[in-house]
Amino acid sequence: MLGLMQDYPLLVHTILDHGALNHGERELVTRSVEGPIRRTTLAEIRERALRVAKALHKEGIKQGDRVATMAWNTERHMEAWFGIMGHGAVCHTLNPRLFAEQLDYIVNHAEDRIIFVDTTFLPIMEALKDRFASVEKYIVLTDSDHMPATSLPNVVAYEDWIAAVDADYRWQKLDENSAAALCYTSGTTGNPKGVLYSHRSNVLHGLMVNQPDVFGLRSEDSVLAIVPMFHANAWALTFAVPASGAKMVMPGAGMDGKSIYELLENEKVSCTAAVPTVWLGLLQYLEQTGKKLPYLNRVVVGGAACPPMMIRKFELDFDVEVIHGWGMTEMSPVGTTGKMKHATSVLDRESQLKLKEKQGRTPFLVEMKTVNDEGEDLPRDGKTSGHLLVKGPCVSSGYFKLDEPVLTADGWFNTGDIATIDPLGFMQITDRDKDVIKSGGEWISSIEVENVAVGCPGVAEAAVIGLPHPKWSERPLLIIVKEADAELDDQSVLAYLDGKIAKWWMPDDVVFVEEIPHTATGKIQKMELRSRFSDFEFSS
Ligand code: AMP
Repeated sequence: MLGLMQDYPLLVHTILDHGALNHGERELVTRSVEGPIRRTTLAEIRERALRVAKALHKEGIKQGDRVATMAWNTERHMEAWFGIMGHGAVCHTLNPRLFAEQLDYIVNHAEDRIIFVDTTFLPIMEALKDRFASVEKYIVLTDSDHMPATSLPNVVAYEDWIAAVDADYRWQKLDENSAAALCYTSGTTGNPKGVLYSHRSNVLHGLMVNQPDVFGLRSEDSVLAIVPMFHANAWALTFAVPASGAKMVMPGAGMDGKSIYELLENEKVSCTAAVPTVWLGLLQYLEQTGKKLPYLNRVVVGGAACPPMMIRKFELDFDVEVIHGWGMTEMSPVGTTGKMKHATSVLDRESQLKLKEKQGRTPFLVEMKTVNDEGEDLPRDGKTSGHLLVKGPCVSSGYFKLDEPVLTADGWFNTGDIATIDPLGFMQITDRDKDVIKSGGEWISSIEVENVAVGCPGVAEAAVIGLPHPKWSERPLLIIVKEADAELDDQSVLAYLDGKIAKWWMPDDVVFVEEIPHTATGKIQKMELRSRFSDFEFSS
């Protein structure tokens, strides 16, 4: 028997309808790419998003067509997002940090018809325009006064483009499972793969991150969304903020400590989210200026492991709660957050701070487990590490235009991360499965050794890779970039590690290099390191 409740599809633009109707006066503040701070409201965003949808219709964009954006977090980007999705087209966010060959591949693979682009990224588009076979038009996210000269064909300033239509328009009637957005992963091997979000998954994800033990947004909040819309959906903040009626603050291109601080202070920001690198910049600025963070009460740190020092600085020096999060593009992207829970309230502060170093626990709508190489479930004992698998309505079931199956026979998605899960449900990443070092039948966590090694005075960056070993199958090699003028040798580094990691985890050798290679999204390219050191012979 079916229930007798309304068939009410979960559509992304209904979030904006709700926000505009019930919190229409709520501000959205942007540090514009042109420079000055711009202020608008949720009601205006909706009105202009409807004009985007109408203008797209005029351009002949149909349901399911891909329309791309390469833009900072700004109110115009937000209008374009909702306009594209509300029109039934697929909003394809392009990450400007990807390499030219990757962007070439991605735009052609997605068959983007229109690209919205910030002035900052015009040179990228100009360099690639002749390779973009499907692109018919470029819309520059600015007004005619700020429109630079450009060699792009069929190009128009955004403000002129939407000025040509009014907002007398309706969102498309869509199935909630229709594709809404597309984001390619920047994997370290092979071509990037397209993660295709649906209206339903985006709405559910927006609601999921609004749960009190995740970001817990309320209408009183002022939220600085630093994490980019072009990489993993700004961690769903573009949906969660208008759904809650909170104030939205967007940093544009200003990611340095001073610019971030100004927004935190002037806009009385209570909650914000970014990767650790951004927070390092802010913490340095605070240290140099002696400034405090009187309004901020929680900071979400994710995308890479949050260094223990950062947790302590925010919590102890600035009285700001750290919410350590983990996730991935394929998970929309949030998978876990490390909020304390009832059972951890009995722990002393030190133990709680230590627990925050873990990547956290799943909210409702994410399932998670670890398995061994044979696919058998592993215990939640906080010690046994294994392949981390996930499931849920906001987790990918495949990649765009790729036929290969990505789920296990019983429907789990393999994250490629290696982790432990403790009895309270807190997960800790110990490695990527391609990077874990298999020595004598046991696993050595390259990440843990790196984390300890970067604490060694004089070490600027550290990477650990496994190299073949005749007896142990693999052994760790520690690769180090020294700080300028640091006096370090392999023996002093090994002496520092001694006692801080298990004896059998000790690297067999230490080498010093000028630079460690990174992917476009800042991850260490271990494959590249493994191939560079493939002829290396351990000295012992
Ligand atoms: P991406 O899809 O580019 O966002 O990358 C996702 C990957 O980033 C995950 O599978 C993890 O390997 C890594 N990652 C994300 N958040 C964290 C975190 N808090 N700690 C450690 N690794 C993380």
